[in-house]
Amino acid sequence: MKILILGVNGFIGNSLAARILKDTDWEIYGMDIRADKIANCLSNERFHFVEGDISINKEWIEYHVKKCDIVMPLVAIATPATYVREPLKVFELDFEENLKIVRLCVKYNKRLLFPSTSEVYGMCNDPEFNEDESPLVLGPIRKQRWIYSASKQLLDRVIWAYGFQHGLRFTLFRPFNWIGPKLDELTSDPEKEGSSRVVTQFISSLLLGEPIRLVDGGNQKRCFTYIDDGIDCLMKIIEDKNNNCNGEIFNIGNPNNEATVKELAHKLKKIFKEHPSTKNIKKESEIIEVFSREFYGEGYQDINRRVPSIKKAEKLLGWKPKVDLDTALKKTLEYYLETALKNSC
Ligand code: UDP
Repeated sequence: MKILILGVNGFIGNSLAARILKDTDWEIYGMDIRADKIANCLSNERFHFVEGDISINKEWIEYHVKKCDIVMPLVAIATPATYVREPLKVFELDFEENLKIVRLCVKYNKRLLFPSTSEVYGMCNDPEFNEDESPLVLGPIRKQRWIYSASKQLLDRVIWAYGFQHGLRFTLFRPFNWIGPKLDELTSDPEKEGSSRVVTQFISSLLLGEPIRLVDGGNQKRCFTYIDDGIDCLMKIIEDKNNNCNGEIFNIGNPNNEATVKELAHKLKKIFKEHPSTKNIKKESEIIEVFSREFYGEGYQDINRRVPSIKKAEKLLGWKPKVDLDTALKKTLEYYLETALKNSC
């Protein structure tokens, strides 16, 4: 089998590529603007990589869509700070550029595995979000945070319509706050404040001994899912052993790993303090509260609760997440500690 992964150096892409090379005999064709996270894949003869931008390298992409059996367009901006600061960039990349790839899959009759997002549910009030029943609830236009959710939702609908009208074979998957090694880059640049996702933001603060900031009190909740669990599920979707993934949408998340952002901060701080490699770090991060208006800007609006129903993935794929929250946080933190220590040597 040949798989085309666009954005193969990203958080999901690099982990998926490593797993495919380890556990299967499949060939991967990959493109990304960077290659730092796939250093361990590059020497594998089943890994064919080109460094490049999907909005420029049109011919390479069309040729490889034609050549491959499965197409996974994973290139997207997925950090809330960017939705607020550069909403057009989010629309252009996440919607416009990806629509072109979707259309190539229609043209060449290829199976498309597309990353939707837990953000499409927005401020839905359902206790568990159901892929086929829950309403998708977004805020006003002036809150530009919703451009990501709206772009992804519209693309979900377009893909669905291509399936309905033109027989496009597709599966949509919705990651719920996946965490793990290589999630985001750590940053100490105040210009980029808030530009990584919450777990990496907190780890950056801990390493620098700077305050951990809880946006609007930190009572909002998320279900954190360890990357290996997410990749297990993606592998089952790619394999599609029971031939029942076509036209389906799957939530991929861990409903048992729910925590408030405040709990997350305290857990990470404790794991950090207890880790042997941090005993010489003198400066301790305090946990403070900030207003979202100051942290992200006026265009931000939050989601209080986001719990996936994973009944469909359990039933159709026989998949269940295994890694509990504390283990997921420990493994993620350990990766960043190792990297930070290596860099300081
Ligand atoms: N958040 C926070 N402090 C930070 C970064 C994020 O309190 O330094 C909050 C943010 O407001 C949101 C939650 O943490 O409620 C999760 O944010 P993330 O960026 O991971 O993405 P989301 O789950 O909202 O897509």
